[in-house]
Amino acid sequence: MTTEQSAAEMLSEDVHSFARPSEAVATHLDLNIDVDFGNKVLSGQAAYQIENKTGTEEIVFDTRGLQIEQAFVGDDMEPTSFRLGTPDEVLGQPLFVKIKPDTRRVTIKYRTSPEAAALQWLNPQQTAGKQHPFLFTQSQAILARTWIPIQDSPGIRITYSATVQVPAELLAVMSASNPTEKNPRGVYNFEMRQPIPSYLMALSVGDLTFREIGPQTGIYAEPATIEAAAYEFAEMDKMLVAAEKIYGKYRWDRYDLLVLPPSFPFGGMENPRLTFVTPTVLAKDRSLTSLIAHELAHSWSGNLVTNGTWNDFWLNEGFTVYFERRIMEELYGKEYADMLQVLGYQDLRHTLEELGADSPDTRLKLDLEGRDPDDGLTDIAYEKGNFFLQHIEKAVGRERFDAFVNKYFATYAFQSTYTDTFLNFLRSELIQGDAALAEKINIEGWVYTPGLPQDFVAPSSDRFAKVAETFRSWQKGVPAEKLATQGWSSHEWLHFIRMLPEDMTQQQLTELDKAFHFTTSGNNEVLAAWFLHTIRNNYASADTALQAFLTTVGRRKFLVPLYKQLIKTPQGKEKALAIYAKARPNYHAVATVTLDELLK
Ligand SMILES: [Zn+2]
Repeated sequence: MTTEQSAAEMLSEDVHSFARPSEAVATHLDLNIDVDFGNKVLSGQAAYQIENKTGTEEIVFDTRGLQIEQAFVGDDMEPTSFRLGTPDEVLGQPLFVKIKPDTRRVTIKYRTSPEAAALQWLNPQQTAGKQHPFLFTQSQAILARTWIPIQDSPGIRITYSATVQVPAELLAVMSASNPTEKNPRGVYNFEMRQPIPSYLMALSVGDLTFREIGPQTGIYAEPATIEAAAYEFAEMDKMLVAAEKIYGKYRWDRYDLLVLPPSFPFGGMENPRLTFVTPTVLAKDRSLTSLIAHELAHSWSGNLVTNGTWNDFWLNEGFTVYFERRIMEELYGKEYADMLQVLGYQDLRHTLEELGADSPDTRLKLDLEGRDPDDGLTDIAYEKGNFFLQHIEKAVGRERFDAFVNKYFATYAFQSTYTDTFLNFLRSELIQGDAALAEKINIEGWVYTPGLPQDFVAPSSDRFAKVAETFRSWQKGVPAEKLATQGWSSHEWLHFIRMLPEDMTQQQLTELDKAFHFTTSGNNEVLAAWFLHTIRNNYASADTALQAFLTTVGRRKFLVPLYKQLIKTPQGKEKALAIYAKARPNYHAVATVTLDELLK
């Protein structure tokens, strides 16, 4: 079986796309859209260069909630017929466009619905500057189809160009070459020359300004946020250098960040050339920048070599967490990276408990057929994936492992890979028939078996061991204000807070808060961890801060555990519903889908 055949076969395996790329596939998109803030609608046209591989009479695109107005074929825009298939709640509707065997270009005129799940339209009050509206997209996993008719599978790659019309006082940016200044007509042109999967299509429009950080790096943010962001992310150029040292040249020209308003549902989204990032990492002390290392790492794992289906999500995230920690180790040393490993391991344990250690969703290779992929994408892909790669690294040594991963990225650059692709590459390039090594690596146990394999060794951290010592002395009666916490990073604080017992007295909470000012912390990781304790133990002094947090921050990773903790008691549930009613308009659809379900 040639690789081409197997890739084509696997393309049709994407159970989350209606597209039939082995018959007719899009290769380039020319997008031309207007951004209408008044009606919360994007309208315009998506013109595709296509390859009709089999002489088929139809090309299939994914859509969800789009109004398709007209379709054309050829450069001279000859009208053609189209139809939409039966709607599916999660997948949307296939769009069938009639083509001829020699058709090279298909143009679709369309508009989005105001409810398009990828789009979040913010009113001025929801931005940092409070003067102008703001729009951003979140296409991963299968939401690109809610704002572009597209073959929405990570196994399909396109290059694109775009022309976007926005109100003259706003700037538009995309996952592409970007403007650095507003223009008076509000028309912006973009180009993405490297082929990308659809989930990396991204657009944001707002009162944005640009600040250069290094020769290849910079930041877009609202004027009210740009100073803080430029300080926080001043080391992004160094990160890029560290990453290149490990896995070779950065392949996307520029690396810029876009700092979004707080409702952004994720920590970051690795949109190529322009990572979208939550402002909740603006801690004023550069303590949460491992998130940037993570998004940057995606420039290799995910964006360059892409998971072919969402069942292979660990190939994106496991590699990226592994690489993120390698970058952090390169920059700040092993002791620092060890702390991140332990925190990641704690998250993994928590996820295993929640899902149940024998749940099929705890396998690396997932089976998400019939489900919204977003539901099945958990810490398993990130942390278990990372620990599997670390496990291989330990088995063969870092030098050999690095050479192997470098070759993997080079071999599959700008392609999609599947779990099998990676495992075959692992067998042929690294295991090479060594039975003892194969047994040691234990593919079956790591990839296809739920939970953690027997041979798993939990990570440890010397700095956390000291935190544990400090914690024990507090338990033994040393007052909080006398504890040796000087020089602790936010990771040490987070570890300390996670060690606190479930049941605490008001006196204990007050003592800790008075000594360490957790409730007024500027660090969102610390806050979110602390609030879990204040909710559980009815510590009323934190209520106002908790409410403020939940009504401004839209990052799902923080919201879900806090709401879950709140609804454990009847009074808490009442409180949660009241806060949610007020906060919901500030959350992106990615977060409300999860929270509606939780709070229904
Ligand atoms: Zn990631």
